[in-house]
Amino acid sequence: MRLALMTDIHANREALEAVLSDAGRRDIDKFAILGDLVGYGPDPEWCVSRVQALVGAGAVCVQGNHDAAVSDPSVSLNGVARKALDWTRQRLDAAQTSFLAALPLTQTLGDVLLVHASANDPAGWIYVTSASRAMPSFRVCDARLIFCGHVHRPQLLTCDARGDVRDHNVPMGAPIPLLRSRRWLAVLGAVGQPRDGSPAAGYAVLDTATNDLTFRRVSYDVATTARKLRAAGLPEPLAERLLAGK
Ligand code: ZN
Repeated sequence: MRLALMTDIHANREALEAVLSDAGRRDIDKFAILGDLVGYGPDPEWCVSRVQALVGAGAVCVQGNHDAAVSDPSVSLNGVARKALDWTRQRLDAAQTSFLAALPLTQTLGDVLLVHASANDPAGWIYVTSASRAMPSFRVCDARLIFCGHVHRPQLLTCDARGDVRDHNVPMGAPIPLLRSRRWLAVLGAVGQPRDGSPAAGYAVLDTATNDLTFRRVSYDVATTARKLRAAGLPEPLAERLLAGK
């Protein structure tokens, strides 16, 4: 099976269209969406509808903190994110709001665990940014492969038989053999708001037959998304960070 893994779409229609079009050329059998369909970006209703259609066709999807915050005011967000979310809430219809609220925090596909933030505290929205922050996720489950998002920067960690967790370089576009002597945790780069210095949309493809993972980047028309974001009256820093990939 070839599984396309996407996270942090953040209401960015142009980025999501670009990733789906790239995935469409790569014999994908199934899609997994790791949360944060909305927040920050100017096209929440289109993005939620597109993901609802993917789920209707067999995709799996978990909830992100921005998705949860649409109907749960106790989810904490910074000022800019809060403003964008208040705007987002007005744009979604009741069915879309219920869809986001009902998303599960984790999903399992065979030996794969999917979660937006950390596996050890999925509703705590912890950023997995280092080996020490990844260790509790390996300890809490026995999944061989853990995929998450939330950080918006791709990262790759392994846990060996002794429980030692290590950070690895993330090669772009080249298949990474997922050696069975270790367990793996991959933090996927964001589709709709990358923060690693490149504005290109990120996603990854897992091939369970060849047992490898490929991180991919796809250029898209960022200027159009930034223009729509400004036209919607969303906070200016959101347009600037999109253009800079920060
Ligand atoms: Zn996010």
